[in-house]
Amino acid sequence: MSTLPTALLSSLKGLPGYDEQAFIQMHTSGQQITSVRINPTKAFDVYEHSFEVESKIPWTSNGYYLKQRPSFTLDPLLHAGAYYVQEASSMFLEQALRQTADMSQSLKVLDLCAAPGGKSTLIQSVISNESLLITNEVIKTRANILAESITKWGAENVVVTNNDPKDFAKLENYFDIIVIDAPCSGSGLFRRDADAIGEWSEANVQLCSQRQQRIIADVLPALKQGGILIYSTCSYSKDEDEAIADWMIDEFNMKSLRLSTEPEWNIVEALSDKNKAYGYRFYPDKVKGEGFFIACMEKQESECGEVAFPKKSKLEKLSKNDIAIAEKWIREDVGISILKWKELALALPARFVQDIDLLQQSLYIKQAGVALGQITPKELIPEHSLAVSNLLSNNIPVIDVTLEEALQYLRKSDFKLDSNGKGWTVLQYKSRNLGFIKLLPNRLNNYYPKEWRILK
Ligand code: SAM
Repeated sequence: MSTLPTALLSSLKGLPGYDEQAFIQMHTSGQQITSVRINPTKAFDVYEHSFEVESKIPWTSNGYYLKQRPSFTLDPLLHAGAYYVQEASSMFLEQALRQTADMSQSLKVLDLCAAPGGKSTLIQSVISNESLLITNEVIKTRANILAESITKWGAENVVVTNNDPKDFAKLENYFDIIVIDAPCSGSGLFRRDADAIGEWSEANVQLCSQRQQRIIADVLPALKQGGILIYSTCSYSKDEDEAIADWMIDEFNMKSLRLSTEPEWNIVEALSDKNKAYGYRFYPDKVKGEGFFIACMEKQESECGEVAFPKKSKLEKLSKNDIAIAEKWIREDVGISILKWKELALALPARFVQDIDLLQQSLYIKQAGVALGQITPKELIPEHSLAVSNLLSNNIPVIDVTLEEALQYLRKSDFKLDSNGKGWTVLQYKSRNLGFIKLLPNRLNNYYPKEWRILK
């Protein structure tokens, strides 16, 4: 592994909890940690699965360390959205959410810098079903990856947007919680990604620090008075961590919030130089996870007004007949609205329809709720998102397949199944939905999305 930049090491001297010798030693040890987080809506017995669980991650409800890194790509349950491969330290976000807000309430939550979707899928699992998560990524190609993660996660209370942080400023006082997992210089991931070491520079730390301030200033009008801002990075640099917390207090009179941690977690509580704001540092020589920083702030004052919800909806409605066709495919849950969206039928909890109307005034909505499919005069041609969603009706036929069959399906290869069924059918692996096939008299059509097929 390349040596750690001397300028980084000297800039960390004197920081709370920093132990240079242990830090360097951990980076040269070659030790790698693998962890996953289970989707509670698609839960399975992790101890019975093909990967070997080492232990539970103590600061999160659904996270596990694995004994070794399996080939995740060849595990159909990953593609079914039954779990997400995520670095353990960042799952501490669950503590930040639970300790600063009441997760049983109906909340509007924004994950501003969200691709590929690790924090967003965690947030979705922690908030209530009455809450709405808006998950945003500014870079278009990365927004596609985010949409894929969200689709596979299967929840209907999520909206994916592709916007610059400043586009949110018009949503004055709208969000209860904003999570900013900011783009940063990335030193916290050096143990895992040694190639990134060569790209580190002090100048980049300064650039990141300025960008982080700009992102926060741009989005802050959208946070309610009394709302919570959760700021995190995977950088050890004070200028991207505690100094940003100090700056938020100086510029916006934010109030720092303290979190409680268990001593055995070895997370270091750090106070910022000027305003003594609380921040939480994760060092890989202390914590079983990568480098991470997180701080929580409450917005004490707001000069902004309230957002005005549009009086008249601009969303297109479907005919009663079309709605009846679509309804056959979804569980008989109360409170789901079926709308027309980009030529598709879309299911969305009824209480959020007004929010979609509001959001689309200022944002580019890439995806909202669950796309059900295209309605023709006679039938619904289902979308993949419906198969992997939590909305699919139990009346749709399913076939549970072997590992080899599941992989053929996920590769989008031609294969045969021994079945007398016909028409639209859901393929399952270990009882988790993988996607649709259509059974025809002598063959089947594979409807797995081409762009997501596995290439191995
Ligand atoms: N939260 C993600 C997760 O847990 O999977 C990781 C987010 S990553 C640390 C930061 C994200 O910020 C990247 O996806 C990057 O594309 C995005 N980003 C880059 N520049 C940005 C900017 N100027 N404003 C907002 N987001 C930006």
